[in-house]
Amino acid sequence: MPQQALVWFKRDLRIADHAPLALAAGADAAVALFVVEPEWLTSPECDAQHVAFMRGHVLALRAALAARGLPLLIRVGSVPTVLSELRRVFDFTHLYSHEETGPGWTYARDRAVGKWCRREGVVWHESPQNGVVRRLNDRSGWARRWQQRMDARQVVVPEQFRGISGLDLGTWPDDLVAQHGHADSRPLPAIGEVAAHACLQSFLDGRGARYRRDLSSPLTAEQGCSRLSAYLAFGSLSMRQVHQGTEAKITALKSLGTADARSMAYHLRGFAGRLRWHCHFMQKLESEPEIEFRNIARSYDGLREDAFDWQRFEAWKRGCTGYPMVDACMRSLNATGWLNFRMRAMLVSFAAYHLWLHWREPGLHLARQFLDFEPGIHWSQMQMQSGTTGINTFRMYSPSKQQLDHDPHGEFIRRWIPEYGTSAYPKPIVDEKTAIREAKNWLYGVRLTAGAKAEAAAVQKKHGSRKSGLPPSGKRRRATRHSDVPRQASLFADEGLS
Ligand SMILES: Cc1cc2nc3c(=O)[nH]c(=O)nc-3n(C[C@H](O)[C@H](O)[C@H](O)COP(=O)(O)OP(=O)(O)OC[C@H]3O[C@@H](n4cnc5c(N)ncnc54)[C@H](O)[C@@H]3O)c2cc1C
Repeated sequence: MPQQALVWFKRDLRIADHAPLALAAGADAAVALFVVEPEWLTSPECDAQHVAFMRGHVLALRAALAARGLPLLIRVGSVPTVLSELRRVFDFTHLYSHEETGPGWTYARDRAVGKWCRREGVVWHESPQNGVVRRLNDRSGWARRWQQRMDARQVVVPEQFRGISGLDLGTWPDDLVAQHGHADSRPLPAIGEVAAHACLQSFLDGRGARYRRDLSSPLTAEQGCSRLSAYLAFGSLSMRQVHQGTEAKITALKSLGTADARSMAYHLRGFAGRLRWHCHFMQKLESEPEIEFRNIARSYDGLREDAFDWQRFEAWKRGCTGYPMVDACMRSLNATGWLNFRMRAMLVSFAAYHLWLHWREPGLHLARQFLDFEPGIHWSQMQMQSGTTGINTFRMYSPSKQQLDHDPHGEFIRRWIPEYGTSAYPKPIVDEKTAIREAKNWLYGVRLTAGAKAEAAAVQKKHGSRKSGLPPSGKRRRATRHSDVPRQASLFADEGLS
């Protein structure tokens, strides 16, 4: 029986290293599909910047696929309905897609698609997209599996497809997008697979030379971090491409043998470790989808929920808390759609401990602000930085210490808070000492109970890393000989992985 293939694109908007495309290339006839889902447009995490970035990627992909003879259809609606309608004009026998670790609505949608495929007799083949393992029973051996997947050869996608012509291609639904309030996006980075590779290349060719040193300050991180997260979240780069590109660069640098090359290799090794973190955190949501909505450690239920102060929340969202480092970071994020890791953690720590806000609403606000919103990383990090995982130390960032360490001359603050230092800038909305003392009392009041301790052991078993995330001590000692990397051990220690 001839095989007729439909490739369903989601957050994997590239051609290279794309297993579903390669599978469809062997079919007797093929078509590609992107569905603009109302469930996405109406979800509380969705923002105009996501829609605009997606639109750009889909249209760029459509052009690139057309050059290979594969039409990319754009449809609007819930996926099972779209599939039923499409099947009337193209009787596909196989549906090819990547696995997705998405928010609850995508999980429900995938179950509905699975049901639809079984009913219609369509074979649905899902390929892994990164290091996340589906139906994982035990975290032991996870890091080894990640390594194997990342080291495996990239999928080669043929130059030509037996694409079906004459189908209605469909257009991006700009009117519908506008109806949902997503018409005007803030400025976006360059879009598409080519731009994503250029970003990776510029990082490996120079921007990453001082990565470990640059990543913590919002002043240096803007250039010194890779800025690949949005491309990874939309799939215009695969994690394997980033991993292999980085490893190849490290090898090349080492073979040069100069002090500069060795130093850069050391910095890129720190970056390479973070790529594993990406999948490590996503694995938590994959293994326990409910953590998008409820505490990872149930012992912490009820601690903050009823105390939610909407006025404090509004001040935090707008960058008007009276804590300049917090406000500058929030305003910068709201304007640009990106912030470095440490400052993201500080924003959440401030919401969770200083303002005593439950993580869900702050998490939704940040999800809309982060162009790179990746649910598995996001919700795991929100909980980790809010102290509700049961297994992580409570990381209470002091905004003034962060300011001292990472913006000592107030450059970043003045850039984002023009009224700083005048009477127009608000007074602190909470007293830091009191807030932190109370937060500690409440949190340790739970953590030290027998129930919380028992639960922590179970959480560690299910989600905890089997590796510390720290570089081996030998490497650490050797690396500290570089004069420009004095603080790397503490960088890893206080941002640690678990
Ligand atoms: C509360 C909170 C929410 C976050 N939400 C997201 C999110 O929605 N999407 C997202 O991609 N990252 C998220 N992060 C992680 C991290 O802040 C971003 O990945 C990073 O800032 C993106 O910039 P970059 O690509 O230049 O990172 P780089 O420093 O260049 O790192 C390279 C890549 O490694 C991965 N990575 C780096 N740090 C982490 C980390 N701590 N945890 C997991 N993966 C990491 C990312 O894929 C990143 O693109 C969050 C962090 C916090 C504290």
